[in-house]
Amino acid sequence: VPSTPLVVNAAELLRRPGSDRLVHLEVTPEELGIDDPRLVAGEPVVLDLRLEALTDGILVHGTVRARWAGVCRRCLTDVGGAAVADVEERYQLVLTDPDAFPLVDDQIDLRTVAGQLVLLEMPAAPLCREDCAGLCPICGVDRNTAICECTEAPSDSVWSVLEALRDPDEPAPG
Ligand SMILES: [Zn+2]
Ligand SMILES: [Zn+2]
Repeated sequence: VPSTPLVVNAAELLRRPGSDRLVHLEVTPEELGIDDPRLVAGEPVVLDLRLEALTDGILVHGTVRARWAGVCRRCLTDVGGAAVADVEERYQLVLTDPDAFPLVDDQIDLRTVAGQLVLLEMPAAPLCREDCAGLCPICGVDRNTAICECTEAPSDSVWSVLEALRDPDEPAPG
């Protein structure tokens, strides 16, 4: 068994169904087996879990949280936050539940679930705020903080020409 705080010995719990144990862990992404550019370097991934002994295994529930950072997909300013994933997993001595994980040598291997769950909570295309106005595609100013003189004439004029062509009352161009 590898030496990592994420492999928890559950032998004691398994002897007393109905008992539980709280686990608070702060680990590196490497320890969780995850590698993602959105994870903030040097920030721990934090697990707060309750391990509950059942007659046939252990129920693990709680949260796993990690800090992420990136840039707004519209205006490119730095954004970041905390990703929090709910953990609700069952570990069984003899697998009868198709969604359960095996308890090997009475050990709960938390790496399997926690890493992937927290990655799923990180935004793939973050926004600094829901109504971010973005950058002007012509001059590049940040429209959240500045107003530019650019008009989006190119696309507008294409549409007005098409509208004119579609109008039966309008004389044919040329
Ligand atoms: Zn933005
Ligand atoms: Zn502009």
